[in-house]
Amino acid sequence: MQTYPVATINLSALKHNLSRVKQLAPNSHVMSVIKANAYGHGAVDVAHALAESDAFAVARLAEGVQLRESGIKQPIVILEGVNTASDMVIASEHSLSLVFHNELQIELLTQVSLAKPLCFCWLMVETGMHRLGLPVEKVDDALIALSANENIADSVGLMSHFANADLIGDVRNKQQLEQLNQLALKHGRPTSMANSAAILSYPESHGHWLRPGLMLYGISPFEDKTAPELGLHTVMNFQSVITAIQALKVGDQVGYGGSWIAESDMKVAIVSIGYADGYSRQLSNSGMVLIQGKRAAVLGRVSMDMIAIDISHLSYATIGDKVTLWGDGLPVEYIAAQANTISYELVCQVSQRVIREYHNGQA
Ligand SMILES: *Cc1c(COP(=O)(O)O)cnc(C)c1O
Repeated sequence: MQTYPVATINLSALKHNLSRVKQLAPNSHVMSVIKANAYGHGAVDVAHALAESDAFAVARLAEGVQLRESGIKQPIVILEGVNTASDMVIASEHSLSLVFHNELQIELLTQVSLAKPLCFCWLMVETGMHRLGLPVEKVDDALIALSANENIADSVGLMSHFANADLIGDVRNKQQLEQLNQLALKHGRPTSMANSAAILSYPESHGHWLRPGLMLYGISPFEDKTAPELGLHTVMNFQSVITAIQALKVGDQVGYGGSWIAESDMKVAIVSIGYADGYSRQLSNSGMVLIQGKRAAVLGRVSMDMIAIDISHLSYATIGDKVTLWGDGLPVEYIAAQANTISYELVCQVSQRVIREYHNGQA
């Protein structure tokens, strides 16, 4: 009997979602975003399954090195770039592509002499998010400096990032896009702007290079649109098992702090999943799980390794039964709402302790 949580990853569904990206934007190239261990799905396995991607993007250097060492041949873009000369050398040695988002990073190029010049690099432009990026008025000089530097092998593209892509029709999206497009026109450079929400809802923003993340994992970026409505297929099924059953009497308390008190006699199951596995403690007294297609509520606080659920209405439930935490039949978007957070955070938090199993089942 399995007694531990497993995140089952459907690689066919993953591939389907990539084909959905291409269907929505047939004239753009795809840079699949697999940062943060591919949003918790396992970066190396996901990268190999998404072999039809034209490039990959991760946040940090170490993530890129790991992918390159696993045999990925496509360009791998480091979205945060690097901040030291030694990291720049590592990027070059592993043929990683850098984003330059401030002048210090461009300055670093003048302090190193790379045996292998950097290819497929990007200049991040600040267009409204005020997170990473060079102000528009500094782009001309930055592009000149990058073109002149021998450590840069080819033409640098222009990248920016929407702050409100999930708000369809928001005027700020148009304003951000216009700033980037004006620069691209002036300098004749390729653009990259669209994340999942923009790919799905804002065709004008597609540009040359798409950067889908969330949608590849079959998750909707919109509050009011489900993944099936967007033509996306669920990739992760996060499951564990019932490891104990408790009979409660009226007044009995459940879990740390006794924050659940039985109002009648009831049957409670203990499931082997806790916040150490990435099951958010925010789901204390508010989460839902699925047992044989039926919902059951989380009772009391989420512990490090366990939760308690109400199975009073499920007479057949027994030790060893599989419990779905999210996935088919219980969208992670729904669980995220219960936890007062976003799906991104829940899937990224699935911890090292959780075994990932990969299969090529029905997409
Ligand atoms: C994470 C990230 C993406 C992917 O965004 P999704 O909303 O997951 O599609 C794209 N671009 C940048 C710069 C990112 O940091």
